[in-house]
Amino acid sequence: MAYHAVPIVALPLIQNALRQPETWNSDWEKITQTVDRVQSPSDLVASAAFQLRAYPSTMDEFFLEYPTMLGRLCHVQAWLTVDALQYFVSEDLEAKWMSASPELRGKHVLIGISNACSIAKNLHDTRTYCGRELRLARLQNDGRALLDLLDTVMVEGTSHLRKEGTMSDLTDAVAEGILKVPGKPRYVPHPTWDAFANARERLTATDTEKLALGNILVLRTKLICHIIHFTIRSFLGLELPEITVTKHRKRKMPAEALSIQAFGAAFMEQTLGPAGAKAVAKDNKEAFKERQSKRKEHCSYAGCSIVNDDSVKYPRCKKCWENMRREVLYCSVECQKADWKLNHKTICGRALTFDAVSKPVLAPRPTVKPPAVGAYVPSKVLLLQIAALSKHPKIDYFIMGELNDSVDLDFPDPEAQGLFRKCRDKAMTTGDRLSVAIMAHFLCWMTMDAHCIAKGATSSVIVRQLKKEYGFDELHRAVAEMQERQNRDPFKRPVLLTSMSPQNWMKFCRGMNVTRQVVLE
Ligand SMILES: [Zn+2]
Ligand SMILES: [Zn+2]
Repeated sequence: MAYHAVPIVALPLIQNALRQPETWNSDWEKITQTVDRVQSPSDLVASAAFQLRAYPSTMDEFFLEYPTMLGRLCHVQAWLTVDALQYFVSEDLEAKWMSASPELRGKHVLIGISNACSIAKNLHDTRTYCGRELRLARLQNDGRALLDLLDTVMVEGTSHLRKEGTMSDLTDAVAEGILKVPGKPRYVPHPTWDAFANARERLTATDTEKLALGNILVLRTKLICHIIHFTIRSFLGLELPEITVTKHRKRKMPAEALSIQAFGAAFMEQTLGPAGAKAVAKDNKEAFKERQSKRKEHCSYAGCSIVNDDSVKYPRCKKCWENMRREVLYCSVECQKADWKLNHKTICGRALTFDAVSKPVLAPRPTVKPPAVGAYVPSKVLLLQIAALSKHPKIDYFIMGELNDSVDLDFPDPEAQGLFRKCRDKAMTTGDRLSVAIMAHFLCWMTMDAHCIAKGATSSVIVRQLKKEYGFDELHRAVAEMQERQNRDPFKRPVLLTSMSPQNWMKFCRGMNVTRQVVLE
């Protein structure tokens, strides 16, 4: 194969990002400078395409993942936009950032870069393609640099809100659909790459090259979005965003990939000596294991925010599995249907092409799951609850009011309902304490309106009932703790909804007093 040598450089190790951020960062900056000087985009794409081609049996997986990657990037951008706009409006982010000292900005930029790069190995290595944007000195000395970068990736048509918006303008923008998950991502512009990508469109590139370039552009933009997000949250003293990486069920390592690994090992031995190479290999293996252990299975529908905590086995698309041995997993029939409409019908069970997988993706659609009973032995009162719920699948929970009048709760918002049912089903099938506490707090918090209270479904009644159902004597204290956790959340989301994207949460809590407190006598 006429594959020409791209200068091989050993990239900094992902596990060093958090261990020694300064050294790790300056190693990166040296490399990206060389890369910018020595490698042309076509070299890099050729190199990336070579890597893809080396995995012939998983080429199909790369194609299959591409629309999901596009979809997830759209979500990351919408999430960043809503967060950032809120900070501009309510925290005066722009003025604070611009007037901060370069040292202070630099400190948080480094936290942002090192944490975002630690999310996943492919994101980390994508820093190779962000040499221009991710220079620490520039981001810390020029306050505008980060804000300008943010402007390039925010959802289109929202920048006016940054300057003169109020919180209620933001809520309106969500309700009016101005601020929503976009159908396609906005890429961070890059003169050389963009010219190259356009040329590629016109020229005859192979599907593998198109995919390699597509991957680079998506990952590059995603990394930069995460870095901005982490940096501004850190700067404002807020918790860093939580990002879960998809766990794949099984991945075979083809012989070609193993040979690349062997080549890498030989290279390490040459540069570090046998003992050094061995130590690095061991460290890499442990770091890999640790990252792997944090991964969670995701539903294949990009609009689904539910993460599988291994409590259930997601069923897979039958045709994809039978025809192509493809793992396309869905958390529910609803997600499968939604994904089918969006893009799956054009790719289901078929060999893939770049055109078929690069269609725009659309807004999210939440999910509902039926209750299930497992190995845990529920109390008698809980069995009554379960029986009542299975008779009335539309109801999410029955509360026995003080007047012996049952209050049937159903949550109209599909995402909240999905999260509630997931938590509820875990509580019911395993008796898991945390799930019971989260659910109890959510039920109390949601029923603080006149209608429920009139029927006797007060917080105390609810907690007393769940205490009996789950045999959980300390539930009072646990619920109070959940309220404290809610108070600490920057958006005042109840713990049950902390995985809900801020834009959906803003839609959800419209007209609600989010600072109301569950108080138990
Ligand atoms: Zn789903
Ligand atoms: Zn399928």
